Amino acid sequence: MVENARVLCHCLNIVVFCTSCTEDNPGRRFQCCQNREGGCSFFRWVDDPLCPRARAIIPGLLRRLNVLENERDTFLRENVKLEKRMKWLKALLLGVLLGLSIWWLV
Ligand SMILES: [Zn+2]
Repeated sequence: MVENARVLCHCLNIVVFCTSCTEDNPGRRFQCCQNREGGCSFFRWVDDPLCPRARAIIPGLLRRLNVLENERDTFLRENVKLEKRMKWLKALLLGVLLGLSIWWLV
């Protein structure tokens, strides 16, 4: 199969797998040369073309996925901040309790 075989392009480089982000071919994989800037024009689709329904739905799903990933990243950053604050508050509370215990004993 094309997917697992090492394919060489016109300039004898091993081609790379990429994923299209265009509106017409969202998520469709293709192979191309790493030396495109150097003039190699090797290009080959790996996946079959998307049906019109998938072409209409997938870009919206990808946008929603990006939004959700950004929200998740924001949540994780905020969670790290909260965990640091909680550690500081626990240390403060422990210090206060220790101080009160010593004061109680004296
Ligand atoms: Zn090439």
